[in-house]
Amino acid sequence: MAENRVPFEQLEQHADFIERHIGPSDADQQTMLAELGFDSMDAFIGKVVPEAILSHEPLALGDARSEAEVLDELSRIASQNKVFKSFIGMGYYNTHTPTVILRNLLENPAWYTAYTPYQPEISQGRLEALLNFQTMICDLTGLEIANASLLDEATAAAEAMTFCQRVSKSKSKTFFVSRECLPQTIDVVRTRAEPIGVEVVVGDHRTDLDQCDCFGVLLQYPAVDGDVHDYADTVAKAHAKQALVVVAADLLALTLLKPPGEFGADVAVGSAQRFGVPMGYGGPHAAYFATRDANKRLMPGRVVGVSIDSHGNKAYRLALQTREQHIRREKATSNVCTAQVLLANIAGMYAAYHGPKALKTIAQRVHRLTCAFAHGLGKLDFQVSTAAYFDTVTVRTGERTQAIHAAARTRSINLREIDDATLGLSFDETTTRFDVETLWEIFAGEGRAIPSFAACETAADDRIPAALSRTSEYLTHPVFNTHHSETQMLRYLRSLSDKDLALDRTMIPLGSCTMKLNATTEMIPVTWKEFGGMHPFAPLEQAQGYQAMIRELEDMLVACTGYDAVSLQPNAGSQGEYAGLLAIRAYHKSRGEAHRNICLIPSSAHGTNPATAHMAGMQVVVVQCDERGNVDVADLKAKAEKHAADLAAIMITYPSTHGVFEAEVREICDIVHKHGGQVYIDGANMNAMVGLCAPGKFGGDVSHLNLHKTFCIPHGGGGPGVGPIGVKSHLAPFLPGHHMLDKAGDAAAPVCAAPWGSASILPISWTYIKLMGRQGLKQASQVAILNANYIAKHLAPHYPILYAGENGIVAHECIVDLRPLKDTGITVDDVAKRLMDFGFHAPTMSFPVPGTLMIEPTESESKEELDRFCDAMIAIREEIRAIENGAVTADDSVLRHAPHTAMDLVGEWGRSYTREQAAFPVASLRNNKYWPPVGRIDNVYGDRNLVCACPPMSDYE
Ligand SMILES: *Cc1c(COP(=O)(O)O)cnc(C)c1O
Repeated sequence: MAENRVPFEQLEQHADFIERHIGPSDADQQTMLAELGFDSMDAFIGKVVPEAILSHEPLALGDARSEAEVLDELSRIASQNKVFKSFIGMGYYNTHTPTVILRNLLENPAWYTAYTPYQPEISQGRLEALLNFQTMICDLTGLEIANASLLDEATAAAEAMTFCQRVSKSKSKTFFVSRECLPQTIDVVRTRAEPIGVEVVVGDHRTDLDQCDCFGVLLQYPAVDGDVHDYADTVAKAHAKQALVVVAADLLALTLLKPPGEFGADVAVGSAQRFGVPMGYGGPHAAYFATRDANKRLMPGRVVGVSIDSHGNKAYRLALQTREQHIRREKATSNVCTAQVLLANIAGMYAAYHGPKALKTIAQRVHRLTCAFAHGLGKLDFQVSTAAYFDTVTVRTGERTQAIHAAARTRSINLREIDDATLGLSFDETTTRFDVETLWEIFAGEGRAIPSFAACETAADDRIPAALSRTSEYLTHPVFNTHHSETQMLRYLRSLSDKDLALDRTMIPLGSCTMKLNATTEMIPVTWKEFGGMHPFAPLEQAQGYQAMIRELEDMLVACTGYDAVSLQPNAGSQGEYAGLLAIRAYHKSRGEAHRNICLIPSSAHGTNPATAHMAGMQVVVVQCDERGNVDVADLKAKAEKHAADLAAIMITYPSTHGVFEAEVREICDIVHKHGGQVYIDGANMNAMVGLCAPGKFGGDVSHLNLHKTFCIPHGGGGPGVGPIGVKSHLAPFLPGHHMLDKAGDAAAPVCAAPWGSASILPISWTYIKLMGRQGLKQASQVAILNANYIAKHLAPHYPILYAGENGIVAHECIVDLRPLKDTGITVDDVAKRLMDFGFHAPTMSFPVPGTLMIEPTESESKEELDRFCDAMIAIREEIRAIENGAVTADDSVLRHAPHTAMDLVGEWGRSYTREQAAFPVASLRNNKYWPPVGRIDNVYGDRNLVCACPPMSDYE
């Protein structure tokens, strides 16, 4: 009997997450390896990763752990966070996320696992949601056009600064910032101004603007201490000197206050956090950016617009230069790529669920509570120094400041300490009359009676000046006046997500974007209140859980990358690039070499690279690639030598954007180092490297990672993301800092608003690494490479595969070349749209090579799914052959008419192919069919007839 007994370790493997994350079973992996001609994974990887960089050491991480164990550990860590009731304000407020939105949007993979809507036909749901967001922003700010989100309020203000410089006719190099702006906004604006030679003057908008010749002005509305200023005179003064005016405005306040667009502002920016998005210790939250119609073509970020499809029906798409950086490179106006789509959608839905009336009620209630509180403080002999306000007041507390502060803490309340003698309080939709009474008790001190709430509420006057009260309507569109019952909202959310293809339905084989499993266990902690409820400026001693998790994640990322230190602050890959180049810049400066400003970038680079270099004040010099897609080492040598005196850096991507492990990478790094430059390795392709090789070990000085690619944070339909940077020790002193952590003021400048950026989604990556352990992470990289090679091998007889390495092998992605099919008239677009009929999201189109598709399956896709995808690609190849054979023209082909909607199939049928061929080209579709909700969308029409807000209901009839 003992012989048949299964060993306990085997029983325990039942809990193995690795097998759940990795698609192909061990047996499938062996089959796939055999097909590729290898008898072991090690032999295979030995052929892919150059021996010179291949690591033979295990990662310095723990063993893989079960899902139950890891969640248990994290919940213990989370419980070390002391979530106090926050009255700190400063851009972050408590909010109630409507539970119907919490569960069916924020916690719903149909929403959070979607990709950026570059393929609009399969993205109509989230495009509609984003259009709602844009419409809401336009309505509330009183401006004409808004984008579909930026990263946070501070970076949005910085984007507004460079926007003003582009639009303004003033020749000045100065940007005026009101000293009453949020301090984190002022800091990030300063960070962004310095490298591009803009001088920031911070002053009193009432007195200091007169003497200041500037191209733009930034104001806060309401101001950081709560004051609601009438900015009409300031705007007039600014306009008289050709300066543009940016108003950073609070959306909830705008339901009661005259909107910026009505007092002459040219731009409004701000955060949509308090519309239902938890504070999350700083993020992620959607920032907004709105401006006048005349300036729309210079606006940063993505904009959703309305167009028509092949049937003439209304359809949504990303409007205007959707991949701006890829087209304009270092002339791009901004490097923002991943933004905050999921959070923008939450905010838009919050507005749709409440509607204009309830939103106004929420704002009025917050205001009334604030007024009543201030009135009561007067009765307790405190002086409230704010005269006109919405939700925030400043109180002179003199010698009692520390005592009040301490009393608040004992009751789990955080106040804002403005200085030794002043406290600030901000109220929000979660504030109750009980909170107000508690605060009075705290201010009153031991043994002193507090005033009556009812009496104070009745006696207190409203504090919004009549001249600044809002009279205009907002959110009048039916979408904001229909979905107020839970049933309606539930169905609206469902109807939208049903239109979209996300990872919960199909693989999304997007090269360079790494759309892999976002495991449910990884997502669970995100909405724990211990993580969601923390204010980013809460005292560190209350955030010990966060601090422990953050330090551990930093250490684990150090282990994965081979660097010495990590900063988790940057809230997207683009921001990581920026932080990395700023570190390089500061390093050169510290050595008396501030003149170094040349940044070498290979022609194949992702568009964010040149755009970022430009923002960091560097001059881009393009290095050629050879016919295999590798950096042309001779050209690199020549350019490094030529610019040796001024060489600041090179930015390379590894494995390259062509999906190749370049054997010469060490040599490339050496050449740059020899000429005094630093090596930036874009780590977006880290999914091919974890556990196999490390950028910090083969010559990189700094890299960003995309936690929303390699480390399992879902893409959210275009954000959130996290773009931490790893650096070698010599760059560590130049990692981004934050004023909240550094009262002395000698840390490096921050790149975003919150000290740890999008802190509340870091548990996703922490959980992933813990679950996989050192073995699992390495296996993930191996299988990612195996899956890509399996696809390459299966497609190679049908399509040329570009840029295989020396031995015919690719890295974790492969490029299918469609250019040889050009004579048939078939384009990448036709193939991408036809894939939708098969239920697939297209691979990355025309990057890095025009006329190609870049396929990255990732390790999480099973052999069956890879086969299903290959079958689709091969079937499409056969359809193209019918054109080659002259049986049908491209215009009449099933490809050109793709994608096919259900409506397409009814009624008269005059096509060159059957209805079955249109909708069910392979048998498996009979079982599981996705119907594209619209036909192919006309991009040109959309840009010519730009509409970026919800169309009137009459358009639908
Ligand atoms: C995704 C990507 C980026 C940009 O990252 P975001 O998080 O979208 O800002 C940069 N470089 C490469 C190679 C990428 O694939």
